[in-house]
Amino acid sequence: MSYIIALDEGTTSTRAVLFNIKKQKIERVKNVPIKQYYPKPGYVEESATEIYSSTISVLVDCLETVGVDSVLGIAITNQRETVIAWERSTGKPLYNAIIWQCRRTMDFCSEIDLRYGNSIKEKTGLKVDAYFSASKMRWLIQNVPEVKSALERKDLCLGTIESYLIFKLTGGKSFVTDYTNASRTMLYNINTFEWDEDLLSLFGVPRHALAEVVAPDCVYGEYEYSGRKIKIAGSAGDQQSAAVGQGCFERGSAKITYGTGMFMLANVGDKPKNCDAILTTLGYGGAGKPSYMFEGSVFNAGSAVQWLRDGLDFFKRSKDSERLALSVSSSEGVYVVPAFTGLGSPYWRSDVSGLITGITRGVTKAHITRAVLESMAYSARDLIEIMQTEGDIKLDKLRVDGGASQNDFLMQFQADVVNTPVDRPGESESTALGAAYLCEIALGIKSVQEIASGRQTQKLFTPDSDREKYEKLYDGWKNAVKRCLL
Ligand code: ADP
Repeated sequence: MSYIIALDEGTTSTRAVLFNIKKQKIERVKNVPIKQYYPKPGYVEESATEIYSSTISVLVDCLETVGVDSVLGIAITNQRETVIAWERSTGKPLYNAIIWQCRRTMDFCSEIDLRYGNSIKEKTGLKVDAYFSASKMRWLIQNVPEVKSALERKDLCLGTIESYLIFKLTGGKSFVTDYTNASRTMLYNINTFEWDEDLLSLFGVPRHALAEVVAPDCVYGEYEYSGRKIKIAGSAGDQQSAAVGQGCFERGSAKITYGTGMFMLANVGDKPKNCDAILTTLGYGGAGKPSYMFEGSVFNAGSAVQWLRDGLDFFKRSKDSERLALSVSSSEGVYVVPAFTGLGSPYWRSDVSGLITGITRGVTKAHITRAVLESMAYSARDLIEIMQTEGDIKLDKLRVDGGASQNDFLMQFQADVVNTPVDRPGESESTALGAAYLCEIALGIKSVQEIASGRQTQKLFTPDSDREKYEKLYDGWKNAVKRCLL
């Protein structure tokens, strides 16, 4: 038996997934939680040392489970935008990892957004925001003496998580970052495929502190364990990795992940496309070529189900929401806009809060639950409409994953509301699967075509033919959002 180990370094945990090459199946998942630190309001950090030691512990667990000789490669997927500063000569971290959620550079970002927002969007596909890596790197250089001193000695590495892990796992031999991760830094020009000189000087980040940008389907180096050398191959940011796991290689293919938030990526082809309301990011388009992906994020999706479960005590388990929603035949005009932390794409309003409309005396928790599930499907349609128009694409189907994609009511309603089939795969771990696939491509085990054709559908939801009904329902949602934006 031969295996690939896919390391999935996420925001709250580090996981290693054991992928059986012959069966093309995930056989084991080993998970270790990661502690978050909040040193000041809006600050979010994690220990870089803990990120690495947890990675080693889950990796070794998987290596020992199947025996080091049967592991052909190690792949990596990671939380994106998070930044680590370390010393090149020793590999020693110089500060905690600044997590993507951290808002410490918000004021600086608002300033530069006013002056350079449009040109930054053109170059990087991103809206100026504290999420992205560039302003975090600037903060480290300006505020941490050890970082400044390493920079002056030309001994500084500034990188995203995958870049730090590859550096450490190869004993400092490789300092690389794949272009899916680079495209989330706000320093990488997605039109020219280079670190952008203007942006480097705007953020005060010198080129020599940044990694060499490589493709997601390459061999990056070797990890030595028990006298054996294992290839490190295949790397992508979590969302782009999930798109690979779902086989979104072609223009017009798209995936939606329904987790705490909802994340959609749609492949718009190999020519850059820019649109104000959504981000453009680099994804993997098959051997040797990147694809441009439209990316939309809805901040609150499954979190609204959690709110019904834990905040309002409507039910015990998230999956009970399905039974409750199906106990009524419609939401009877009730709409819930769960904008707990503002609205993400395509509205970008962090100042608004959520609302419930259409309440009459007969409304029960079943109607509200149904309306919450429906809100996820409507939010997805908001994104899909813009992506199809601005990206000049027609989606053939929607590939879905994430916790709430297990909800059949929601998936059927999704298909009905967007008038597009919804395809739920047999393997729900799309993110880790994508990294394992990239490793297979890098090592020449499988081709992109073989991977795309090997994808299995667990359930296909086809849209209802009563279009008028769903158009009317969606109009109601647009009205509710309008009120929310007032
Ligand atoms: P994340 O990776 O963002 O933590 P997951 O993909 O594990 O999220 O999904 C968990 C989220 O999905 C939770 O917010 C939970 O409330 C919601 N969820 C899980 N199962 C269901 C279900 N069957 N129906 C509706 N929501 C669900």
